[in-house]
Amino acid sequence: MRCQICRGKASVEVRQHHAAFCPLCFVQYFLKQVKRNIQAHKMFSSSEPLLLVVSGGKDSLSLWDALLHLGYNVTALHLDLGIPGYSDRSRDACSAFATEKGADLRIISVKEEFGVSIPELAKRTRRVPCAVCGRVKRYLFNRYAVEGGFTTVVTGHNLDDEVAALLGNLLHWQTGYLARQHPHLPSTHPKLAKRVKPLYTLTERECLAYALIQRIPFLAEECPHAEGATTILYKEALNHIEEASPGTKLAFMKGFLKHKDIFRVVEEDVKLRECTLCGQVTTEGICAICRLRERAGAVVQG
Ligand code: SF4
Ligand code: ZN
Repeated sequence: MRCQICRGKASVEVRQHHAAFCPLCFVQYFLKQVKRNIQAHKMFSSSEPLLLVVSGGKDSLSLWDALLHLGYNVTALHLDLGIPGYSDRSRDACSAFATEKGADLRIISVKEEFGVSIPELAKRTRRVPCAVCGRVKRYLFNRYAVEGGFTTVVTGHNLDDEVAALLGNLLHWQTGYLARQHPHLPSTHPKLAKRVKPLYTLTERECLAYALIQRIPFLAEECPHAEGATTILYKEALNHIEEASPGTKLAFMKGFLKHKDIFRVVEEDVKLRECTLCGQVTTEGICAICRLRERAGAVVQG
């Protein structure tokens, strides 16, 4: 196998594009894809202050590395979820990368914010950890960005994450979620930062290859709560299809973006207001996070 750029020995195969690269040319290809996605969807300019959410895994750290290489104005934010063992190792991976690159990393914790960790908050509210975690993350990332003067929340969701979410949303006809699924969600309220996903066309394998070639000290371990999640089932199903027909995931994603206007009507029905307790944006009187806080407190008192 020869590198399609320099004709040297190729070591990374990108089946969705029927291409192969040597390590150096793969890094250039990866950076070009990230830049192209940012520009094609007008995600942000090079001077805008970006808040990149980092977990310590290969995707977010690869994106951090790529944004630094491309010269963007990026600050990283890590949220300590308080998951025994895993959270310490996640934080350490982010800190190691920041130290190595001399990059700006902020760390906040769910425990400082809510008085309890994600597993405890889930237990008190009798919900599964991922349902609580997803909401808490969106809320805290947005609030941190808006209060800190960052225009944009950047996340490391890759193509596999996006098509798995898309499949799940389609299987359950979640029209509201389908209307809002996009690599660039603009701000629709002064207290909402825009949200972007520059890796949305790059597969999990490509992010892993980039992280390994660039010697990024990422945490390979998955969150213990990810086990058994339906997303994993959807990813496996899509991997089978991709294996038999390379390029299907990317075509699925791009086809959806081309036709997604059919879900717009539902999106426009949503009225935004400010939570009467915390002032953050919600579609109801009291936001989901304040209701969660109340519920956690009520269960403790009860
Ligand atoms: Fe949070 Fe669930 Fe992801 Fe773990 S797997 S980080 S609990 S959303
Ligand atoms: Zn609130």
